[in-house]
Amino acid sequence: MNEVQQFLGDNLEVYVSGFVVVGGLIAYWLKAKQRKIPTDFPTDAAAPGVEAPAKISWTQRLSLGLDKSRSEVWGKIGNLFSGEKPSLDEIEEVLYTADLPTGLVQDLLTKLDKEGKGKSPNEIQSLVYQFMKDKMETVQKTNRVSDGAKSTKVIMIVGVNGAGKTTTIGKLATKLKSEGNKVIVGACDTFRAAAVDQLQVWCERAGVEMVRAKDGADPSGVAFDTVAKAYKENYDYCLIDTAGRLHTNVNLMEELTKTKRVMSKIDPQAPSEVLLVLDAITGQNALKQAQEFHKALQLTGIIFTKCDGSAKAGSAVGIVDSLKVPIKYIGVGESVDDLHLFDLELYLKTLVGLETT
Ligand code: GDP
Ligand code: MG
Repeated sequence: MNEVQQFLGDNLEVYVSGFVVVGGLIAYWLKAKQRKIPTDFPTDAAAPGVEAPAKISWTQRLSLGLDKSRSEVWGKIGNLFSGEKPSLDEIEEVLYTADLPTGLVQDLLTKLDKEGKGKSPNEIQSLVYQFMKDKMETVQKTNRVSDGAKSTKVIMIVGVNGAGKTTTIGKLATKLKSEGNKVIVGACDTFRAAAVDQLQVWCERAGVEMVRAKDGADPSGVAFDTVAKAYKENYDYCLIDTAGRLHTNVNLMEELTKTKRVMSKIDPQAPSEVLLVLDAITGQNALKQAQEFHKALQLTGIIFTKCDGSAKAGSAVGIVDSLKVPIKYIGVGESVDDLHLFDLELYLKTLVGLETT
């Protein structure tokens, strides 16, 4: 053994304890470094240029979504009417830009004229709120959202092209699945391959099953297969996406009626819901569209989308009042949290700018 080996051997204990101390210090430093994530910005912030996942409540989301309708139409009425010279003409003009049907505009003006004089802007806003609530409340209450009955619930989603059907189904499927339901989706917009692919992406993200057919296949056949599988395998929800425009000679309403009829062969109760997706931006045309769909398919509810992009979110009042079909869901954006069950009081208070405690 040479001198060096002798020296090392004699001081072995010193070296071992040195290693332990240094190792411990390094481990502590690494741990501290890991913990030192800056706390001045959210750790789940999105990459630059990508919309950050906003962690805000539904009430805040709804308020943001209805901002345009509130600032351009419904929130202005109190101030317009409460001054020295209340101007009904100006209010009338504003209401028409919101696509409120003529009859309702006149009714609201009469109410303001009778009950609003000398009142504060906030009291006038309350009158507007009460007026809309009176028009919608009965319809909203008599038609409840389908309850938690044991059997499979089949929901057929209809509407014109671009209204937001596929997106809404994606959001609904995600929500229902996250609530612990077994969900299956039928891709019945077989006329556009892109539509089926778009739905597939949503379904994969949500982790739900999707039934698809070859491009150009008969949509009612896909609906039949999906509902049959849903019943056989005890799914809780079966969501049926449909086309909004057909690239064939077949009339859209005829095709949709057929799709609905085919499902009822499996169970006369199916579909338990036929929901029309209506785009708030559609304006005047929305009521006409809704009437046509209702005549052909006996709608059980409406899903009102894109309320965030338009000042016409108040047109919902006219649609519910004239069709006597309730709004069941409302969409105020493209993310999954932007779809929510419709709450009449919250919606109207947010629209006119009243406290929503
Ligand atoms: P479909 O043809 O009826 O199936 O319509 P899609 O679901 O393909 O939607 C058409 C477009 O509307 C897409 O770009 C969606 O992201 C968008 N969209 C759907 N719902 C909303 C909503 O509530 N707000 C906004 N801003 N965009 C929406
Ligand atoms: Mg679609």
